[in-house]
Amino acid sequence: MNVPLLDLKAQYSAIKAEVDVAIAEVLESQHFILGPKVEQCEKAIAAYSNCAHAIGVSSGSDALLISLMAENIGPGDEVITTPYTFFATAGAIARVGAKPVFVDIDPVTYNLDASQLPSKVTAKTRAIIPVHLYGQMAEMDAVMTVAAEHGLVVIEDAAQAIGAEYKGRRAGSIGHYGCFSFFPSKNLGCAGDGGMVVTNDAQRAEKLRCLRAHGSKPKYYHKIVGGNFRLDAIQAAIVSAKLPHLDDWTAARQRNAKQYDELLREAASPVGLPTVVTDRHIFNQYVIRVSDRDELQADLKKKGVGTEVYYPVPMHLQECFSYLGLGEGSFPESERAAKETLALPIHPELTEAQARFVVESIGEFCARKHPSVEALSLA
Ligand SMILES: *Cc1c(COP(=O)(O)O)cnc(C)c1O
Repeated sequence: MNVPLLDLKAQYSAIKAEVDVAIAEVLESQHFILGPKVEQCEKAIAAYSNCAHAIGVSSGSDALLISLMAENIGPGDEVITTPYTFFATAGAIARVGAKPVFVDIDPVTYNLDASQLPSKVTAKTRAIIPVHLYGQMAEMDAVMTVAAEHGLVVIEDAAQAIGAEYKGRRAGSIGHYGCFSFFPSKNLGCAGDGGMVVTNDAQRAEKLRCLRAHGSKPKYYHKIVGGNFRLDAIQAAIVSAKLPHLDDWTAARQRNAKQYDELLREAASPVGLPTVVTDRHIFNQYVIRVSDRDELQADLKKKGVGTEVYYPVPMHLQECFSYLGLGEGSFPESERAAKETLALPIHPELTEAQARFVVESIGEFCARKHPSVEALSLA
């Protein structure tokens, strides 16, 4: 049996007619950059995230970058985030010339440990970027409390968490900015690069719109220096066509997660399971924890099961951040997670037989590697 980590072809074949019509409309209109399709998509994403404004941008990475630019964050400033994330989070901070300051993660959720935030705030701190990793939101109450106490801006990196909820509130709607990615492998993906910033602040929305088009307003008159951060109409049309399916896909991911939980508990007890502590985890990833992760990954690969490590090297150990002088041991939980976590196939199209095969394969591995813990047959 072959179990791919992701099955985008299966998703496309299920909604091909709708996506193809959406693309054809853009081609007919020959209006490719911003315009009505982008505005329509922005309205839909704003509504979906319970936010007043949404600004379509060129990628999730650029959503983070433009949010920092909108706050004039730059050299001399510090921005606090987690070292256990996709590179773009820390990369955006460095690209505006600010200093990334890391707090370690909570080993249960893999999100930043908000209790450690106060110890990292200095006179130079300007913002906090919590990352809602794997589709589960960070401890936002605590983040917002620290931010309010110190007058900091909060930029939610919700690239993996569109539609996730924390105490009934949607990802992106709690901080001053929420950043989404439509990278094809995200839960709501387009056919290339794309992203969006959401905000409830009209002035911030206005500045983001201006920055996304080289800071021009009106056209060819530039008060500030922005960039080309525009979303194109084909990507927006695809996102709009897929959005009505997102809740069904999320429900399927949640069903798959529940099934994995039950099967793994039975058949592979040495494996650490994801812990859901918020209202709505959207399972962009289903991530298990094992001490012999690399061996398990190689073993699963041989059996035709696709897995991925998100992420093998925490930010503070990346070569490009060596200037920060943060060596091995600085953030022990992030370092341990980087060695032990493994994402299993969780996509909505995953069949029950496939999930069972994945778990059986893990169970066999555990029985061989950890014979003292008995692995049960699932047959
Ligand atoms: C995917 C991702 C991004 C970047 O999004 P792109 O659209 O690929 O630029 C940023 N942060 C996190 C946590 C992500 O998973």
